[in-house]
Amino acid sequence: MQSEPRFYDVIVVGAGIEGSSTAYSLAKNGKRTLLLEQYALPHSNGSSHGKSRAAERAFGNRDIYVHMTNESFKLIEELEEECGEQLFINCGWLTFGEKGDALVSQTEQSLKRYKFPYNKFDAEEQRKMYPNLSLPNNFECLLDRSGGVLKADKMLKVYQDQFVHYGGVLLDGEQMVDLHLGSTVSVDTNNGVYKSRAVVLTLGPWAARFLPKIGINVPLQPVKINVYYWKERNGHALTTETFPAFFTKCDGGNTTVGGMPSIKYPGLLKICLSPGTCIDPDSKDEVDYKGMLEKMKRFTTTHFPSLEEEPRNMETCYYTNTQDGDYILDVHPDWKNVVIGAGFSGHGFKLSPVIGKILGQLATEQTPFCDLSSFQINRF
Ligand SMILES: Cc1cc2nc3c(=O)[nH]c(=O)nc-3n(C[C@H](O)[C@H](O)[C@H](O)COP(=O)(O)OP(=O)(O)OC[C@H]3O[C@@H](n4cnc5c(N)ncnc54)[C@H](O)[C@@H]3O)c2cc1C
Repeated sequence: MQSEPRFYDVIVVGAGIEGSSTAYSLAKNGKRTLLLEQYALPHSNGSSHGKSRAAERAFGNRDIYVHMTNESFKLIEELEEECGEQLFINCGWLTFGEKGDALVSQTEQSLKRYKFPYNKFDAEEQRKMYPNLSLPNNFECLLDRSGGVLKADKMLKVYQDQFVHYGGVLLDGEQMVDLHLGSTVSVDTNNGVYKSRAVVLTLGPWAARFLPKIGINVPLQPVKINVYYWKERNGHALTTETFPAFFTKCDGGNTTVGGMPSIKYPGLLKICLSPGTCIDPDSKDEVDYKGMLEKMKRFTTTHFPSLEEEPRNMETCYYTNTQDGDYILDVHPDWKNVVIGAGFSGHGFKLSPVIGKILGQLATEQTPFCDLSSFQINRF
């Protein structure tokens, strides 16, 4: 028997990091908000689980992302104060590649342009700073000193707890099965019907299948990414006190590699490669990861000789990619009370605080925090 009121100012569907931060922002601003999640929480079926995510300042030469990143870092500090917990570890963010490589030079341009503190150094200097990382002499490194690692699962939980603290209603294990658009929105779940003035859809990889049902045909591609944990042979030298999050390319530039010292398993380094494998999130199909694992082994043997040859642990997670790698932050073309946050393309966690703020503003007809022209549905 359902006892919660069924009419809300806003219903947010999907309690990953984007939906949870949106619901938090709405409830904190006094909106009667319902947050619906199809799985029992916590779960590891979407994109937001796991202990850590990298958060860097540099973002090529895209002013809009840098502007959003600055706001996100501010909002994370506020959230830390509010909950009394550390959510961001400022261990730095290291980019490395061959001298003259575009990845390093573009990152440097971005840090310089926006006046973020950084150090650039060669392989010899790198060996002194990070003896566990092995780079050839023709490599160079760039350390973004204000970057680091977010405690991902803690941040997700804090958003959900604070949302409830501000009076929000969180229902998990409840799947939206249908959505009726109109000036009042009606959400049918497997357990009931809820109505609201506005709805925010933050469905992660499930957006690809659901959005066409409400007339939104955007090219969204869910991609399964494997995350591997590699153990140090001797001791626990790779920690956030001694080693930064890092980003580089391998395989002739075709594969990107992101990693960070583990805050989950002491003595383990977390590394993931992309692109991953295109797959529906509900598919039970097995994916052949052998090629990916071999690439990863070549990478770790070359650059992290202190790690064991085989990974100790593996997790999976989804990116939901757009064609241009930019997010979708917009309203339905016919119904401005239907707000969509999707296609976070593997870089949505660090900006989730500002994404939540923006989606909340769109749902309540406020002027959004920043110009959203890069994120419109009609760009495709
Ligand atoms: C391996 C990996 C590493 C990453 N590293 C970084 C990083 O270093 N830095 C960074 O910024 N980002 C990173 N990302 C990206 C970031 O994690 C994602 O962009 C972000 O988590 C997307 O969150 P989301 O809320 O959109 O999706 P999700 O977390 O998937 O949330 C969507 C939620 O909606 C629910 N849902 C879907 N359909 C329904 C329905 N019908 N009814 C009810 N609920 C529904 C789902 O169950 C799910 O909980 C990484 C991602 C992966 C996979």
